[in-house]
Amino acid sequence: MWNQEWAAQAACRGQHPDKLFVRGAEQNKAKQVCGGCPVRTECLAEALDNQIEWGVWGGMTERERRALLRRRPNASWRAVLEAAREQHPDVVVRV
Ligand code: SF4
Repeated sequence: MWNQEWAAQAACRGQHPDKLFVRGAEQNKAKQVCGGCPVRTECLAEALDNQIEWGVWGGMTERERRALLRRRPNASWRAVLEAAREQHPDVVVRV
């Protein structure tokens, strides 16, 4: 089930935004926070569907997200990720 109120359950909630909007090797640290986030899929869909260009969202850097957007420029990422999760509820969605 898609969590419309995902931001309230974000693992990064309460962290300073500067920890997620980092560059280079610091992004790997930011991605570790996302690894245990219960709303990672929703977060990633938000970033992809809104073409958010900066920061780590849903465990992906802006560079990684740009690569996905190039591969499927007209996708509704919420639809893609929601369908994937429904089909494989026990699997962590990795795109
Ligand atoms: S996936 Fe990462 S950036 Fe998104 S809400 Fe969770 S911890 Fe924050």
